[in-house]
Amino acid sequence: MKVCKFGGSSVADAERIKKIAHIITSDSDRKFIVVSAPGKRHGDDKKITDLLYLCHELANQDLDIDEPFGVIERRFVQIADELEVRLDVPGTLATIRDSILKKTTVDFAVSRGEYLCARIFAAYIGATFVEAANFVKIRENGMLDGQTYTGPFSELDKNNLYVMPGFYGADSSGGIRVFSRGGSDISGAIAARALGADVYENWTDVSGFLMADPNIVDSPKPIRELTYREVRELAYMGAQVFHEEAIFPVYPVGIPINIRNTGIPEDSGTYIIQKRDFSKGVVAGIAGRTGFSLIVIEKMLMNKELGFGRRLFEILESNDVSFEHAPSGIDTMSVIVRDSQLEGKDETILEEIKRVLKPDQVEIQNGLSLISVVGEGMSHQIGIAARLFAALSSAKVNVKIIDQGSSEINITVGVSEGDFALAIGAIYREFHE
Ligand code: ASP
Repeated sequence: MKVCKFGGSSVADAERIKKIAHIITSDSDRKFIVVSAPGKRHGDDKKITDLLYLCHELANQDLDIDEPFGVIERRFVQIADELEVRLDVPGTLATIRDSILKKTTVDFAVSRGEYLCARIFAAYIGATFVEAANFVKIRENGMLDGQTYTGPFSELDKNNLYVMPGFYGADSSGGIRVFSRGGSDISGAIAARALGADVYENWTDVSGFLMADPNIVDSPKPIRELTYREVRELAYMGAQVFHEEAIFPVYPVGIPINIRNTGIPEDSGTYIIQKRDFSKGVVAGIAGRTGFSLIVIEKMLMNKELGFGRRLFEILESNDVSFEHAPSGIDTMSVIVRDSQLEGKDETILEEIKRVLKPDQVEIQNGLSLISVVGEGMSHQIGIAARLFAALSSAKVNVKIIDQGSSEINITVGVSEGDFALAIGAIYREFHE
């Protein structure tokens, strides 16, 4: 039995919805379908979810929502008309509009894209609509309630066909709660776990993970197999194919995730599994992000000073700044943080570091990018780091920081943003074999 999730671009218009209906009916194991809200049909199109966020924001400021809501209305009415479904779509939209004007919660407002899309799609393919609010239970802190796995999912007849909206669930008092953006991937993974699926198919607009960002490297090699841990690292470092948190529901029970392309359904895509054959390439992928800053602190005899690190991290914590890496030496300590975390707090943090830690020198360097070379097999192979640095050096890229976690699943280097694309290209050429 397969659980399939279709992303926003796969349900962006009636034509594409017909296509995914065909994908579903072509394999009778595809029984439980999760859909996103309609996404972009072309580059400068609008995503329904973005428009719903906008409507909610406008309504809360007592501003007119007619224009953005009109776009939402026309999209849904056109889809429903072209699919010839018998549903009161205008009526449902009017109710949604009303609740937004009455300042409903943001979570409720933005979840309506998934809700209506799933209603329409269920009607179109003659499937039973599964109301995510009754099935996916979310705790007050936004985390999934484990009861979801033993709840109503277990009562479904696995011979039937179901459609559930992604992105949201409900808390114990019935209030709608959404996951973070792109969260329908998480909903699909939850359903796969709860139903004990054999595979979780995640259908999107690319044929799975590529070894590097296609905007930087020309036609990068597709990745056929990745481990859960490798996906976590790649997703965290910016590979946008799959939501990084969507691994958690399926990981403990080992359900494989298969990323597939709606546009090219015959392509087998990427399989995300527990263990892969490392002989097929030690480096699985290369991913990177820009937008980091480096806080560099120097103090003679720092290594003898008890509690230095703790006090530094306390300063960050009290300023509500979370950090990414902290490479250190005997008399230096550096902390890498996202620019978005640091915004407007630079001065305060520098002041506090000077006052509390009395360093010889402290500065914040902006414009850092991080690149991770990811592969679980690296820990058993000699010479990966040597090849990485040789590639960077022949491309004349200056490496500002190096971080290799003890798990040896990745090596992360920090280079200036100006060298970002150059570095990724050089690393890709070295490892794509
Ligand atoms: N529609 C939501 C978003 O745009 C969730 C999703 O597509 O997965 O983030």
